[in-house]
Order: sequence, then C-alpha cells, then structure tokens
Amino acid sequence: MFFQKDIETMPRKELLELQLQKLKATVAYCYHHTAFYRERLDKAGVGDGSKIKQLSDIQYIPYTTKDDFRDHYPFGLMAVPMNQIVRIHASSGTTGKPTVGVYTREDLDIWSDCVARVAVAGGVTADDIVQVSFGYGLFTGALGLHYGLEKIGATVIPASSGNTEKQMMMFRDFGVTGLVATPSYALYLSEAVKEAGYPLSDYKLRLGILGSEPCTPQMRDQIEANLHIYVSDNYGMTELGGPGVAGDCPERQGMHFAEDHFLPEIIDPETGERLGEGEQGELVVTTLSKVGMPVLRYRTKDITSLTYEPCPCGRTHARMSKTAGRTDDMLIIKGVNVFPTQIESVLIGTPHIGPHYRLIVRRKNYRDTLEIQVELVNADLLERYRELEALQHSLHDRLKSVLGLEAKITLVQPKTLERFQGKAKRILDLRNQPEEG
Ligand code: ADP
Ligand code: ZN
Repeated sequence: MFFQKDIETMPRKELLELQLQKLKATVAYCYHHTAFYRERLDKAGVGDGSKIKQLSDIQYIPYTTKDDFRDHYPFGLMAVPMNQIVRIHASSGTTGKPTVGVYTREDLDIWSDCVARVAVAGGVTADDIVQVSFGYGLFTGALGLHYGLEKIGATVIPASSGNTEKQMMMFRDFGVTGLVATPSYALYLSEAVKEAGYPLSDYKLRLGILGSEPCTPQMRDQIEANLHIYVSDNYGMTELGGPGVAGDCPERQGMHFAEDHFLPEIIDPETGERLGEGEQGELVVTTLSKVGMPVLRYRTKDITSLTYEPCPCGRTHARMSKTAGRTDDMLIIKGVNVFPTQIESVLIGTPHIGPHYRLIVRRKNYRDTLEIQVELVNADLLERYRELEALQHSLHDRLKSVLGLEAKITLVQPKTLERFQGKAKRILDLRNQPEEG
C-alpha cells in the first residue's frame, strides 16, 4: 500500500520541520546558484533566505511564472553546470512555447520515488504488467512513469501512444494488467476494445494510472465501466519535474502531495493573495529537493484547493482536489466563469449521450456565445425528432441551472467528434476571428 511508508505517513509536525529546513536550504541554494533567483531575492529583500524563520515567511519570496521559464528558455534557470545534467525534458507545449526541465542523477532518483509512490497508491505491485501508452519523447509523462514503475518492480511495456491495434494486441498477448495513459486516450482505447469484438474477459486489465489532464469523476466512472478497471489520478508538470507531484490514494478524496519534495500553496490568481485550507485558487509550488532546476513559488495556473485533514489511508501529506482546469482554459461566457470540466460533469452520464464533446466559443456583436457539440450514442435518435429536441432542451436547462450558463446544444452523429491520443483539445475558440455578423 505504501512505497515509502515512513515518509508518506510521517507525523505532520515532523513534516513541517523538514519542510522548513529544506525551504531555507532551497532558497540559499537558488541564491547562490542562479543569477535569476539572486536578483529576484535581493530585490524582494529576502536575500539568501537566512531571514526565513517559519514556513509562512515563504510569502516574502517572489513568484516564478511560466513566462519566467519562457524568457529564460532553455537553460536560464538551471543551477548546475551542464555536465551534471543527465536528462532534458520539455513540456507538451499545450499553451505556447515549451518549457524545459533538466535533471541531475539525484533528481531522476527522487522523481522515480515520487512516481513509485503514486503508482503504489493507485494499486500497482511488482506482479503487474503495465503498458505505458503515453507518448515517449520529450514529454515527462512516459519516461516518468516508466522509471517509477520499474522501481516498484512492475513489468513495463514502453508502448508509447498511437497504433490502437497494436495497443490492443499487447493488452491481450502480454496479459497487461495496468494501463498508463491520458484519460482521453484511455477512453479512446476503451471504445476500440469494445469494437474489436474480443470480450473484456480476454483481457487481464485491472488498473488505470491516468493523468496529465483534468478528468472529472464522471469521466473516470465512464472509463472504469468501459474497461472494467480501477482508475487513479496523478498530477505533475514539466516545470516541477513531471508526474509524481501528487496522486490518488485508495480513498480518492484528493491527491496526496509529495510534501517532503514539494511545498504547495493556494493563491488568488487575480490578486496573488495567499488563500486558506479548502479555498479554491491557483496552485503555487516550491521544490524542496531539486538540484538541476529548483523552482521557487511556481505559479502553475492550475485551479484547485488543498486539505490537511488526516486521510483514512494513513498518509499525512496534504491532498489537492481534482483540478478544475488551467486559468488559461477558463471560459467567460456572458459574464459567467466556467471551466470545461464543469460542463463535462453535467454532460457525462446523461442518457443517450457519449463522453465526447467540443466547446466552440464565438463572439457575436461583442458578446461571447458558446456552442456545445455532444455526440449521441445511437444514430437512430437523430431521426426521432421529438426525443432529440427533448434531449437538447434538458441538457440546455441542466447547464443553465447547474452552471448558470446559456449555451447552444448541438447533438451530433456517433463517432464524428475528434478522439485524442494525448491530451484532449476540446475548446475551439473563434473569438479572435473576424465577426461572423
Ligand atoms: P503542458 O503545459 O504543455 O501541457 P506538461 O506536459 O508539463 O505541459 O503538463 C502539465 C499540465 O498538465 C499541468 O499544469 C496541468 O494543467 C495538467 N495536468 C497534469 N496532470 C493533471 C491531472 N492529474 N489533472 C489535471 N490536470 C493535469
Ligand atoms: Zn489518503
């Protein structure tokens, strides 16, 4: 149940002492090893961190942003000479120019410990055969999970993404018990498995270790039902090293943070003010162990909340709730702020509707409008006009009452919306295009 039980269940008092000591050391390390942080810390009056007396003094340290990474692309935030770096990764570039992560040998070792914790908490053991269907390459997801799983002693198949036929062949022929993928790709594979004509009893799949994009509990339930597996979620990003930053325990009431290596905070994304336990805001993370590229107070742009409540699983580390999404993905439609995940949670589970959807935002007469395209499960419904209309109305009304959101619902033929092998791109924003009139 645990990979590093002593650390994962460490009494909070000890954990907080450890964090304080590591925070001081990290600030001093950043100050002495990178010109970027030295300048920032001097300007803020924090200096080399010797003035830090308690964890809350972290508030005097300036934030680091994605733009800082981009402005100092590729190696400006690196704290060691290149000959100590043994690996380079880069982000998927979902929202712009990729950001770079560099690793010393020690960084890689700690990283795979963190991933091993998440995988063990998600149910993986040395007896599992795990297919890693994340795209191998610069993306941290695939190699991150790969080495973490090897550390547990699980059998790893570096399948990479794509080539669905081959994915299914390996599932069957190799007796795969665990799948590592994005929720979108797991959903895609689950449809392929259904269509392939082999009953699920031909497969030994039992676990899904999914992550790298938001996944609502409704979407998770759908994937579990389709593949007859148990799904756990894990979170991370290139700037912090990759996956393994936080992950579900068997309770699945929030993902435990690896708090001995990462110090989380929640802030108001508008004002930068620090928020309290349970309050939703932007996640900010300080690395406590990284050598190659340490990060002070990184603004992740991900919206979530933290709880320090004891968890029945015995782990003492803080838990973060499933992210609502990135601040970049928040839609403001006629004054209502919504995340695609909120829409997803309303759509999925509605009878006759599949888990595939697309959000199209337009600007008409200086007002934003939202069209939601949703796939029908059964094409026959398209001919039953009255039922179709009733379904459209009920979706429209539920979105309106749950989210206060007025949207045009378009029901489309089964299997017509795009499927994704990596992270889903469900928003089509046409607002910067010329007015349609
Ligand atoms: P990119 O920003 O280009 O997608 P990364 O591959 O480093 O680069 O992805 C990190 C981001 O992916 C996170 O900041 C977060 O938005 C998203 N992410 C990763 N894991 C999860 C997860 N379990 N739940 C929700 N979002 C996630
Ligand atoms: Zn727990």
